[in-house]
Amino acid sequence: MPLIAQNLELIRKKMQSAADRAGRSVDEILLIAVSKRFPEEAVREAFRAGQTRFGENRVQEAEQKIPALADLPLEWHFIGHLQTNKVKKIIPLVHLIHGVDNPRLVAALQQEAEKRPGPVNILLQVNVGGEEQKSGVDESDFESLLSALSEAPNLSCRGLMTVPPYEDDPERVRPYFRRLRELGERYRSDFLAPEARLELSMGMSHDFHVAIEEGATMIRVGTSIFGERV
Ligand SMILES: *Cc1c(COP(=O)(O)O)cnc(C)c1O
Repeated sequence: MPLIAQNLELIRKKMQSAADRAGRSVDEILLIAVSKRFPEEAVREAFRAGQTRFGENRVQEAEQKIPALADLPLEWHFIGHLQTNKVKKIIPLVHLIHGVDNPRLVAALQQEAEKRPGPVNILLQVNVGGEEQKSGVDESDFESLLSALSEAPNLSCRGLMTVPPYEDDPERVRPYFRRLRELGERYRSDFLAPEARLELSMGMSHDFHVAIEEGATMIRVGTSIFGERV
């Protein structure tokens, strides 16, 4: 079996055991394969192994890769830091934008979304670790981000996303995942229809098992599928 297929199989097993430990159904957890800096062919190989959801973090790379793979029925996620001047380019390419973290970006997305049929799907990125220099809204500014969102009727906010501080021991990241879920549950009525599922995009290669135990509905895994990025 090709390496990418083997890696995917292992990850699916780990997802299953984490879901079992948490008493959850693995079907409610989506695996997003982060293909950034890997070529088109790596995506094709993952697709042959049954993977359909992929994530990219740079607009320029996404603009090349996504159209080149348009022959496959893939669902693309933008997981990187998005600049307001790139909004127009990324919207038509992806299903969900994970990293929305400031009112200016909300306004820019709304302005583009108005010109299109149907809503633009987003997640709000929260800097739950409170790290300086890190993307994501600080918790102290979260409510003002929500109020910007309330003036953006063409955006559909599905939930929250975070990139917690890096810790060698994934157990130490658990409180940050828990915090994101608490924020989501506390504020869900401000951005989500009552019947909708709250999405929590959290967990990467080395800590996704902990994220699943803490309620992740989307995990973003790159290295463990495709290998080390150069
Ligand atoms: C690169 C990236 C990932 C994947 O990280 P790995 O450690 O390679 O699994 C997940 N989320 C974001 C936002 C990323 O930029």
